Amino acid sequence: MFLLPSTSKLCSFHPPNSIPTRVLPYARPQTLRILGAKRAGKRRYPSEKKELKLKHKEIAGDVKNKYEGIWRLSKLGVSVDKDPGKDFLGVSDGLLEQIAKVLEFPVPSMLPTEAFTVVRKSFDARKRLKEPKFVYIVEMDVDKLLSLEPRAWDFISELEPKVGLVEHMPEARKSGDLINIIQDFKKVHQGFVSRGSVNNRSNGSEGSHAHPTATKPKIAVVGSGPSGLFAALVLAEFGADVTLLERGQPVEQRGRDIGALVVRRMLQTESNFCFGEGGAGTWSDGKLVTRIGRNSGSVLAVMETLVHFGAPEGILVDGKPHLGTDRLVPLLRNFRQHLQQLGVTIKFGTRVDDLLVDNAQVVGVKVSDSVDRQSNSQKWGYDAVVLAVGHSARDFYQTLLSHNIDLIPKDFAVGLRIEHPQEVVNSLQYSGLATEVRRGRGKVPVADYKVAKYVSGKDGEEPSGATSRSCYSFCMCPGGQVVLTSTNPSEICINGMSFSKRASKWANAALVVTVSAKDFDVLNLRGPLAGVEFQREFEQRAARMGGGNFVVPVQTVTDFMDNKLSVTSVPPSSYRLGVKAANLHEIFPIHITETLQHSLSVFDKELPGFISKEALLHGVETRTSSPIQIPRNNDTYESTSLKGLYPVGEGAGYAGGIVSAAVDGMYAGFAVAKNFGLCNEGIESILGKARSAGFLEY
Ligand SMILES: Cc1cc2nc3c(=O)[nH]c(=O)nc-3n(C[C@H](O)[C@H](O)[C@H](O)COP(=O)(O)OP(=O)(O)OC[C@H]3O[C@@H](n4cnc5c(N)ncnc54)[C@H](O)[C@@H]3O)c2cc1C
Repeated sequence: MFLLPSTSKLCSFHPPNSIPTRVLPYARPQTLRILGAKRAGKRRYPSEKKELKLKHKEIAGDVKNKYEGIWRLSKLGVSVDKDPGKDFLGVSDGLLEQIAKVLEFPVPSMLPTEAFTVVRKSFDARKRLKEPKFVYIVEMDVDKLLSLEPRAWDFISELEPKVGLVEHMPEARKSGDLINIIQDFKKVHQGFVSRGSVNNRSNGSEGSHAHPTATKPKIAVVGSGPSGLFAALVLAEFGADVTLLERGQPVEQRGRDIGALVVRRMLQTESNFCFGEGGAGTWSDGKLVTRIGRNSGSVLAVMETLVHFGAPEGILVDGKPHLGTDRLVPLLRNFRQHLQQLGVTIKFGTRVDDLLVDNAQVVGVKVSDSVDRQSNSQKWGYDAVVLAVGHSARDFYQTLLSHNIDLIPKDFAVGLRIEHPQEVVNSLQYSGLATEVRRGRGKVPVADYKVAKYVSGKDGEEPSGATSRSCYSFCMCPGGQVVLTSTNPSEICINGMSFSKRASKWANAALVVTVSAKDFDVLNLRGPLAGVEFQREFEQRAARMGGGNFVVPVQTVTDFMDNKLSVTSVPPSSYRLGVKAANLHEIFPIHITETLQHSLSVFDKELPGFISKEALLHGVETRTSSPIQIPRNNDTYESTSLKGLYPVGEGAGYAGGIVSAAVDGMYAGFAVAKNFGLCNEGIESILGKARSAGFLEY
């Protein structure tokens, strides 16, 4: 710690208009060494170096006034012993030390914490680091800093931008929840919105569904998963007459139905881990990680909206945010209440069985009570239907085919779910620090992992018959449990969930291998729904191998590697409906099994101990993403085969995971609102272009 010399320049104050040169009265402290950069110096490609140089020039030239706006300080590493721990998202003394190093400010404790905001906090325990660290991104409000600590002036004058480490932004980035974004949008475009919704016709682009908006357009949103909820929210905020149709039950009843499944083996085919309020992700780990750009405006808007409905603000800061089922349930209740206040009619237990089509355009839906099978079906008219049914609505894919709607088979991945005792994963990842986990109540996060192996099929050592395919871990649930996500009693498919604390004894993750039309062809499965049949084939095999009653076939990883069944009494599993020892080589075609085996041996090199007798493989994980895509217009989001139909979210092949599904629903909501003349601009003008094509996983 430095002591301030009495003659220190720190005592002088420079008025805002003069840019002083500083004479240092003390030895300049060493500049901050940033750990954890992926590649540095000589190891950069020449093109990368050039790009970096350009960016550097650009940001250096950009700083018009260092003493205004926000400075963003990135990659500030604080060791575990100096950090209050994962749940603290403020500015600690340890973090102030790191900030002071970047500013070359000699007395960290004199920096006012109010001037700094943590915008990201992650835990980095990669083996190549000398020691695990919390890594921060912090925003510094210079105005506040200088008014609270004028002696920082000299140090700001010396601060130079460095790409990715120290960057200047003229003003703080504005973000807000979707409700505020739409309110602001409506204020700016007030004239248009009120005129548009009273007497204008649609201004949608050519080919889109034009609708006279003298009355509110009547829109049905089918499915209350993240994509359906966000589409309904946008449309209702813009004043559409929205009905949300959900075959499953509201979270209160759904919780009881899931309880009956887990305790009494009673599967409600319409209210389970896949169907019901909130969609497939409600009884989940609630991971909010996404591959569509964590800092993009659209993802921030979704995250802020979740906070608006009750998610903790920490999800905006946490490097790997997750909610857990216990937080998702009340959040969804709040979401529902808000929609109802906006006038949305929500009908649970209402399954859409068919589309009503007239003159090549959707004019409504045929629905039935999903609980009372004796009740008659009804026909309800709508101006448009947003289809947000998720990837388990296999019956609805058939309905779409019956209307000659294009469905394009899409690659996805299948495999097994691996489970280790959480303690094993903690010590694989954290070594000595593992004791700090304390079942989610400790300083460091419950450990997770992400592993991936690309198998080219050319290497002599690679599995036989393998063409290029990847094997990767997916939907890792630290401190979680393996759950049954079947929607039919003759099929077994599994997934993982956890509660917010991630306090269970187990760590599970899917280990899956990519599959494509070639694989379906081998089993003589062809046509648009070949992928669905492919999934079903292995789900039924798994059910038979388990022997019924939702018992899941399992094998220790060591036995799986040796293709043998040496133990009939397997290690314990978190799966509540029972497991049965089986040789899982008998489930998938040989090339999938060999890819899994080969990749496991690679993962064990990365994480020695990953292959162990305590690790148990469960069969099968098949619904990693949708097996089809429903083509739609890029701008209007309308189906290319049927007017008035708007396919969105994971089931339509445009998202994978809670956040990307919500983003897709949000963009679709704007597109539909625009097509019906409820707004004159698309969401792109506010949040930028959507990044949600193809299949994205989380
Ligand atoms: C157990 C589990 C854990 C998961 N964990 C995570 C995680 O941690 N993080 C993450 O990002 N993602 C997770 N996912 C994936 C995530 O849930 C999905 O990607 C996401 O929910 C897709 O959203 P969606 O709105 O497109 O579809 P869905 O969420 O599947 O919603 C579709 C809805 O439509 C309803 N529906 C279907 N057909 C009809 C019909 N004919 N009539 C009326 N309603 C209908 C369904 O009941 C369902 O509620 C998990 C999934 C599962 C199953």
